[in-house]
Amino acid sequence: MNCPCGTGKPYADCCGPVHDGARVAATAEALMRSRYAAFAVANGKYLEATRTGERRFGEAAQVSEWAKTVVWLGLTVKESVKGSAADADGTVHFVARSIDAGALVELEERSHFVKVDGAWKYDEARSEPTERRTKLGRNDTCPCGSGKKFKQCHAA
Ligand SMILES: [Zn+2]
Ligand SMILES: [Zn+2]
Repeated sequence: MNCPCGTGKPYADCCGPVHDGARVAATAEALMRSRYAAFAVANGKYLEATRTGERRFGEAAQVSEWAKTVVWLGLTVKESVKGSAADADGTVHFVARSIDAGALVELEERSHFVKVDGAWKYDEARSEPTERRTKLGRNDTCPCGSGKKFKQCHAA
């Protein structure tokens, strides 16, 4: 399958090895992409392991369960500031699109990433995340790009 993070590369040559721990994300943007892809493949463990801050018991399982109920449409990285292999922190401005609970959701955020012991981690949102929710009618065209009506595609 094509990697959900939007590079156009196969998952097995892109975020797959990063999720498996065979490779590390070299840049803040690569980590951002791998975290988006982790939502798409419902890998809550990876999401939990790649952020700063405290953990809650059962968080990874909860995130995985929720992620499975969402249709992950794609990620657009609008801008990366710092976050190169030589930097200690960086910011990635992105828009993530999904179908959640019968609505098209476009989440836009500037995320701050820090390097902890040589590994990139998600730190916090640096802008108030904006979430645009557009309720989808059953006869609307499905936003996944299939060209089908929502009711014949991702409505269920
Ligand atoms: Zn990827
Ligand atoms: Zn669809």
